Amino acid sequence: MENRVIEEIKRLIPDPKRVMTDISDLYSYSYDASFGTYLPDIVVQPKSTEEIVRLVQLANQEKFPIYPRGQATGLSGGSLPVKGGLVLDLSKMNQTLIIDPDNLVAIVSPGVLTADIHKAAEQYGLMYPPDPSSSNVSTIGGNLAENSGGPKGLKYGVTKDYVIGLEVVTPEGKVIRTGGKTVKNVTGYDLTKLIVGSEGTLGIITEAILRLIPKPPATETAMVIFDDIVDSGRAISKILTSGILPSKLELMDQASIQAVEDYEPVGLPRDAEAILLVEVDGHPLAAKDEIEKVKAICIGLGAREVKIATTKEEREELWRARKLVSPAIVKIKPTKISEDATVPRSKIPEMFKRLKEIKEKYQLHLVIFGHAGDGNLHPNIITNKLDKEEMKRVEKAVEEIFRATIELGGTLSGEHGIGTMKAPFMEMELGEVGLVMMKRIKEAWDPNNILNPGKIFPEPGQKLVLSE
Ligand SMILES: Cc1cc2nc3c(=O)[nH]c(=O)nc-3n(C[C@H](O)[C@H](O)[C@H](O)COP(=O)(O)OP(=O)(O)OC[C@H]3O[C@@H](n4cnc5c(N)ncnc54)[C@H](O)[C@@H]3O)c2cc1C
Repeated sequence: MENRVIEEIKRLIPDPKRVMTDISDLYSYSYDASFGTYLPDIVVQPKSTEEIVRLVQLANQEKFPIYPRGQATGLSGGSLPVKGGLVLDLSKMNQTLIIDPDNLVAIVSPGVLTADIHKAAEQYGLMYPPDPSSSNVSTIGGNLAENSGGPKGLKYGVTKDYVIGLEVVTPEGKVIRTGGKTVKNVTGYDLTKLIVGSEGTLGIITEAILRLIPKPPATETAMVIFDDIVDSGRAISKILTSGILPSKLELMDQASIQAVEDYEPVGLPRDAEAILLVEVDGHPLAAKDEIEKVKAICIGLGAREVKIATTKEEREELWRARKLVSPAIVKIKPTKISEDATVPRSKIPEMFKRLKEIKEKYQLHLVIFGHAGDGNLHPNIITNKLDKEEMKRVEKAVEEIFRATIELGGTLSGEHGIGTMKAPFMEMELGEVGLVMMKRIKEAWDPNNILNPGKIFPEPGQKLVLSE
């Protein structure tokens, strides 16, 4: 980026603390929670929609890319400045968090942390259900751009199901409002839903109106231990067809169990092949009845043991094991390639078999955990990016995981998005014409290709490269 343009940006945002060009700052903004590092030319922390408008208009005039970024917890490379340019750090734009209990909505700025929305809603006896496991550190802007899910997605749906209005700066630097505070709104195309999940390629979200629901009065939690992971897959299918819809149904495979026990022993059985964590919520009597039914189903399908939490503390202790998985697995080896291939629920046992085969074929440390109840397994390959030979095997294994997923009628990504990591596989799922139709939307919205270029759409002949 030319110095002249950098100086113009500094003139537009006349606060040196919010405009960074030092090499150490640029390095801090060169990576996210996925793979790869790319240096931006400049980082700006905007405080208002007007500042963003000015920057986007300048970018169109001078033709430099803008990379919106929340807290960079993304697992598919969405915020990476792959073509340099300007990183727009929206995490400091967090001034608004209003709960409007009469309309059952929250109005939020993009940099507000998701967990803060949960806490604010609870003070009114309300709930904002989307709960990515990163809620304590991820921003609502990032959640909206990725259409994030989380454990509660199984019963309550994902981010897009709770967004009814947005303020957006378009890629050409205009401000639009989509939707509003009404639950029903069918005026024209649903631009709210188009922007949600667009990974910062179609607009910069500067405010959102989120739908809230009443918080269920009771919750029951069970930990179920299985000797055979395929049996746990059968139990998931059986629970979901028994008339019970758990609020969470999470899985940990043997590798995750052992990683947690090595990292911080919590008393999990190292020899078990799988653990399911099942939570139901609702009226207290219904929740009690349902968790007992879950227990009976699991025992009937060969579960070794079912522990039901009797206090809030016991419930938190059961969930602690699941929360420890992410920090624990990166102690095995330093590089984590996280996938969130998702299959129809009835195909979960078959997907477990395929993943076992891929793990053995490529001799890799493949760990499976995640939101198994909605088929959103998280196969994570734990590796070391310095080991080039192993990284070649990882590249092949990732491609095979995607092939298996699509063959089983699934999708490349249930919640982590496409970013850079899955762009090469888009056509595998969408087909040529499907991909062209999506590209046409991008070209119509962003004729100068300013917002987040290098994401979602593969360059001609692009392959997943992890070994260079
Ligand atoms: C330990 C861990 C657990 C996780 N668990 C889950 C989980 O359970 N479920 C889940 O879905 N994800 C999960 N994630 C992934 C990640 O946290 C989510 O994708 C999250 O929404 C990213 O938020 P962020 O603020 O970090 O956004 P970033 O990573 O900074 O950005 C993500 C994308 O959003 C765009 N973006 C950010 N802000 C805006 C904005 N205001 N306007 C337009 N575009 C914007 C960026 O350009 C980028 O494409 C997890 C990640 C980690 C590290």
